[in-house]
Amino acid sequence: VPVLSLQNVIKDYASEAGTFRALHGVSMDVQRGELMSIMGPSGSGKSTLMNVIGCLDSASDGVYRFEGQDTATLGETALAKLRNKGIGFIFQQFNLLPRLTALGNVALPLVYAGFDRKARETRAQELLTSVGLGDKPRSRPSQLSGGQQQRVAVARALANDPDLLLADEPTGALDTKTGAEVLGLFKTLNRERGVTVVLVTHDPEVARATDRVVRIQDGLVFYDGPPTEDALYG
Ligand code: ADP
Ligand code: ADP
Repeated sequence: VPVLSLQNVIKDYASEAGTFRALHGVSMDVQRGELMSIMGPSGSGKSTLMNVIGCLDSASDGVYRFEGQDTATLGETALAKLRNKGIGFIFQQFNLLPRLTALGNVALPLVYAGFDRKARETRAQELLTSVGLGDKPRSRPSQLSGGQQQRVAVARALANDPDLLLADEPTGALDTKTGAEVLGLFKTLNRERGVTVVLVTHDPEVARATDRVVRIQDGLVFYDGPPTEDALYG
């Protein structure tokens, strides 16, 4: 089964002015081990789509299956579990807790997963090592560069061994060189560990490094395929 499968997903936002349709029937399957990017102009529906995929918001119509399970049938507890264990979230602004060390940030999802302190520290240290920060466990986010902070965020996202890494503009706050390094980390995790990655990006050079590009405009998929020049530069 695909990691995720959307069939004719529609998202309507209600307001006093009436209903606004942000997704007009989006269909796509993402298989285990894919590394793909979602592109599209501002307001095209990328965040809405990411919120549906991340189970932060639900579709108004259509079917969204995660690991074969229709998410519409899941209650709040099951959805929360899916968000905590099934999906690792990565954000443009890293969203690390400033008072915690790198190790503490990475260990935090393991608290909720019920590991004891020793097991959390061991696993968090392994995760930091796997993103190239094995020598920085005691550093606070403010003591790390942007690229290093995003590596900590990637390690945190991997803590519960999720089925999917979902990244919203993960290189958007980084300079070109640092962004390329973070992208290289995604590629390594994908190639060597089979991690499935869906990322949103505005940057054609980021999308070029992925295997598949989905372009959306006005809430519709209008390209889904390899990162050709036309796909990247619209
Ligand atoms: P993108 O991430 O591609 O910039 P969004 O998914 O944020 O696009 O927005 C898609 C469309 O849906 C936009 O026209 C936006 O104004 C609208 N929209 C987003 N969130 C809401 C909301 N909560 N209520 C009403 N309209 C919304
Ligand atoms: P934006 O795309 O508008 O900049 P973010 O990417 O920061 O917003 O966050 C997208 C959504 O994910 C927000 O609604 C936020 O509350 C939610 N969110 C942030 N962190 C987590 C998390 N660790 N687990 C689940 N949801 C989260």
